[in-house]
Amino acid sequence: MTEHLIIGGGVAGCAVARELTRRGAGCRLLEAKTIASGASGGPGRRGVRANGRDPREIPLIRRAREIWPSLHEALGVAPLFERSGHLLLIERPEDRLEAEARVALQSRMGIPSRLLGKEETRELEPAVGDAVCGAVHCPDDGVADHTATTRAYGEAAKAAGAVIEEGVAAGRLIVEGARVVAVETADGASHAVAGHLFVLANSAVRDLVAPWLELPLWNLAFQALLSAPIDPVPFRHLIGHAHRTLSLKAEAGNRVMISGGRLGRWDEERRTGMTIDSEVAANVADAVAVYPSLAGLEIEVADAGHLESLSPDGVPIIDRLPGVENAVFAAGWCGHGWAIAPAVAPLLVDWALDGEQPAALAPFAAGRFSA
Ligand SMILES: Cc1cc2nc3c(=O)[nH]c(=O)nc-3n(C[C@H](O)[C@H](O)[C@H](O)COP(=O)(O)OP(=O)(O)OC[C@H]3O[C@@H](n4cnc5c(N)ncnc54)[C@H](O)[C@@H]3O)c2cc1C
Repeated sequence: MTEHLIIGGGVAGCAVARELTRRGAGCRLLEAKTIASGASGGPGRRGVRANGRDPREIPLIRRAREIWPSLHEALGVAPLFERSGHLLLIERPEDRLEAEARVALQSRMGIPSRLLGKEETRELEPAVGDAVCGAVHCPDDGVADHTATTRAYGEAAKAAGAVIEEGVAAGRLIVEGARVVAVETADGASHAVAGHLFVLANSAVRDLVAPWLELPLWNLAFQALLSAPIDPVPFRHLIGHAHRTLSLKAEAGNRVMISGGRLGRWDEERRTGMTIDSEVAANVADAVAVYPSLAGLEIEVADAGHLESLSPDGVPIIDRLPGVENAVFAAGWCGHGWAIAPAVAPLLVDWALDGEQPAALAPFAAGRFSA
């Protein structure tokens, strides 16, 4: 059986491994640390949100939202996705203009969306602060357990014959003619690539493909906070905000997850991230400003240990290696690559096996940054 090689054991790599084996193809996945140790791991859950997404990603999230509700059945595990609905809260009257335009666009693109006034918002979220004057509501959005999903994809691939190697870091790609023929690992071993190579190592993709392509990518350590239990958790939906850097989720055991894009500090030497006290305090202050009953909230877990890659225009770069017929790569998810992964993985496999770039991936080509 032709063996395809995957670099990276996050949701992208594990979902591609599962998709390849589902189609009867053999594959080997190399993961530098452990499965779900990168951006696809860490505390709490991830938002599966169409609301507020870049229009280029809407076709992907539409496909993904068809997959999420029954994904656990396909992977043979307990439910992973909860349809909580998403509310993008508005406090400044001027933000209603963008919200109106977004609601119209999202509705046209097949994402049921509604602009709510102050009272309607309170009917859905009674504990919201008085300054909130409206919201964009997407009832089909939700949340999913990222670590469990990534591991479930990996386990399903393994059960179907994939070889998953942890603690193996890919180093150099060896190209002969127009094909990648092998990948050298940090310990000097060489892994042959008989079929296709999928470079899905997120924060390491830029360096891995650097000999062929200068990608405008950089890495940041996003902050995620998990509170001590509180009773009651004051919100019911996945919560976002029009102008505050804020995302709120209700977690198991009456805990609150606070994130949204505030940053920690990355220590390249130790390969780990640390939170910054002022950023933790600012994230909590924003949460309290929107839900006053969170005042006094105690934070039990403050994490910034999961690097994410970013691109200049806020959407990923998904492409083939130039001049190489059997290698695709994807990175630059910009903090929202999780929710679309169940749609992106089958498209990447289509591209590799059929040779044709799927139309839904065309907006993410690296060429958009060329002169
Ligand atoms: C705090 C936080 C909150 C987020 N919230 C959301 C959200 O609400 N909604 C959403 O849609 N997205 C969210 N995201 C983004 C989302 O989690 C990521 O876009 C997604 O998980 C990326 O998956 P990946 O498989 O590409 O990368 P990763 O999960 O980072 O996996 C890449 C893997 O490659 C491995 N690796 C690195 N170098 C090598 C090498 N040389 N050889 C072999 N393996 C290597 C790494 O160890 C890692 O396990 C969030 C991200 C963070 C950090």
